Amino acid sequence: MQHIFPTYNRFPFEIVAGDGYTLSDQNGKNYLDFTSGIGVCNLGYNHPILNQAVAQQLNQVWHTSNLYNSQLQEAVATMLVPDESYLVSFCNSGTEANEAALKLARKASGKQTILAFDHSFHGRSYGSLSVTGNSAIKVGFGEMLPGVIYAQFNNPAALDLITPDLAAVMLEVIQGEGGVNVADADWLQAVAAKCQESGVLLIVDEVQTGMGRTGSKYAFQQFGIEPDIFTLAKGLANGIPVGAMVGKAKLASAFGPGSHGSTFAGNPLAMTAAKEVLQIMDQDFLACVHEKGHFFSTYLQDKLTQLDCVTDITGLGMIQGIHLKETVPVGQVILDLQAAGLLTISAKNNTLRLLPPLTMLASKLMAGCDLIQETLVNYAKKGTANE
Ligand SMILES: *Cc1c(COP(=O)(O)O)cnc(C)c1O
Repeated sequence: MQHIFPTYNRFPFEIVAGDGYTLSDQNGKNYLDFTSGIGVCNLGYNHPILNQAVAQQLNQVWHTSNLYNSQLQEAVATMLVPDESYLVSFCNSGTEANEAALKLARKASGKQTILAFDHSFHGRSYGSLSVTGNSAIKVGFGEMLPGVIYAQFNNPAALDLITPDLAAVMLEVIQGEGGVNVADADWLQAVAAKCQESGVLLIVDEVQTGMGRTGSKYAFQQFGIEPDIFTLAKGLANGIPVGAMVGKAKLASAFGPGSHGSTFAGNPLAMTAAKEVLQIMDQDFLACVHEKGHFFSTYLQDKLTQLDCVTDITGLGMIQGIHLKETVPVGQVILDLQAAGLLTISAKNNTLRLLPPLTMLASKLMAGCDLIQETLVNYAKKGTANE
């Protein structure tokens, strides 16, 4: 790839087809997918209902802009809001959803300062990067947004920083990129309570954890908190680019006509896909994912905890992180698993991150976990000699 900026270190093969949860490369090699395209294709690939609906919309109209009414946007928003106290604003990515959340929080509160967390990831625009707790990816890009302070995730000391002069606290319930770090429910509830009593907005980034990934529609629903604003993208339209910011209707006067927008936002193709995704993701589906996620994490624990190179296994439902000893580089493990026919990704701190499609059969989940176990056992045999 000679005409592409080298912002990604790419594996030297190309995925050319997908069906269910199997992907094929240009040489016809098949892979079981434990990535979902980084938490996007939660319903797998080549899904007949999604494909048919998007194809039909494609032949009807692709794009209309936001100058006209959209019953599609209204239908999707109606299914997204947890209750009637919320409204939705569409955009095209997770980064943009977070950008909208930051803008709304500042304008609605009339305040500036945002409290964010170490090891968070919220995107790569100047706003979302400014609230991302990873200094390495900010190097060379100059001044970030002013008025951002940081605290440690799951640390009670964060509570002292939540004062009435903050506009918002922004966090992920499970830090995905940051190492699959799950919030302590008690800590999170204390943060939410302190926000409430201090008149500070709570923004929850559900870009990776939303849309059923953890076994509930949104992860925060399992932690007993209610955000003022939350953001969605990855799994929302199963791979058609889209994002959404969901926020309390009481903030609406700050987002009046002309205050915010995007040409492509709420595009009919994306909305059609999102509508089908949400229709499939009903209570029964989510209950099933909840059960499956529990099975998945239990099976992983059973298979891997006794391995010497595994220091911890964290996650909730269908997002799991296997924390590896430094002597077993996750990058090499990913390559070995690819060779064995399993696609996985990494997260910070030498973590193997697993994000299988939510539709994957238990037998395939087990097969993937078994491959991981066999691969990691090899490292125990080889000791630290491998690469
Ligand atoms: C992926 C991700 C983002 C960024 O989303 P993009 O669609 O890549 O802009 C933001 N927040 C979290 C938690 C994510 O996982």
